[in-house]
Amino acid sequence: MKNLKFNTLYIELTHACNQHCKHCYLDCSINKEVMPMSLEQIKKVFLNFKEQGGRKVILTGGEPFVRKDIFDILDYLEELHLFFDLASNSLAMNQNRLKRLSRYKYFSSYFTSILGATKEKHKYIANQDSFNKVLNAIKFFNDREISTYVQVTLAEDYLKDIDDILRMLIQYDKCIIKFTPIASMGIKKEYDERLIVPRKQYSNFLYKIKDLQKKYPNRIDNCNLVDYKDLKTIVEDYQNEELWSLCYGFVVVRPNGDLSFSTGLGDPYTWGQAFENLYIPVDDKLKEYIIKLKRADYKLLEVSKKEILEYDVELEKEVSKQ
Ligand code: SF4
Repeated sequence: MKNLKFNTLYIELTHACNQHCKHCYLDCSINKEVMPMSLEQIKKVFLNFKEQGGRKVILTGGEPFVRKDIFDILDYLEELHLFFDLASNSLAMNQNRLKRLSRYKYFSSYFTSILGATKEKHKYIANQDSFNKVLNAIKFFNDREISTYVQVTLAEDYLKDIDDILRMLIQYDKCIIKFTPIASMGIKKEYDERLIVPRKQYSNFLYKIKDLQKKYPNRIDNCNLVDYKDLKTIVEDYQNEELWSLCYGFVVVRPNGDLSFSTGLGDPYTWGQAFENLYIPVDDKLKEYIIKLKRADYKLLEVSKKEILEYDVELEKEVSKQ
């Protein structure tokens, strides 16, 4: 029986976070366990990944910098010659940490986030004063020719901020921008519904982003919304692949080491613990999962004839319904 091969490992190092964003889809907070996997377990995950031919690690959280051993983790990736992207809300960034990060040869890109066009608006959503630190980090890396990827997540009241935020970021030529509306709330039990962008606004949002993509080629990433044409392209891309969307070799490791193919927490499928082994056999369980993914994509393709969808979230819901 053959095993799946992975090119990209997405690892959530913790669900603890020094911010407590109103929209956080994982409901991360400082009260969560800071180091659910030990350093030794994380090293074992990377070693397993390297041994099966992996190339790229994306480190995220929660907030990776709440872990005291974050630089030990990065040192080990460097030792293994594994390229890595690192996501941080930037609150814990200071000059020393920025310099230390910029010295890693295998550090590919710094992911961070902006939640409004001013520091007051950003703070209202993040519950922390991180706005200037975010901008400082973007400038610091840009000056050193290191790429950044800025997720701009906007509540309904902040949609009008798109142009101001774009003006702020477009000057940094190594910066890729992803605009996303707050479209749903993940696993949060209590949240402010006024933050959520109503479905009737998806169309304006999506086509505004598509216009910006034409105006600024290679600088604006796709948003999380899709129309029929987008989804048709996605499905056509997968349809000759035996592994459907898994053909891209992307795997997720949860803070406790569980392996998954989805970054949301609603996906009922997990595949053992990544520090024990990173082998996922192409067996009946995996085939069943692929069939569900395929069915879910075709179902959403039908739905997208009538409405614009928040693709990742709807896909996960559809897979768990089947
Ligand atoms: S910074 Fe990210 S992980 Fe932390 S609370 Fe905000 S959205 Fe959640």
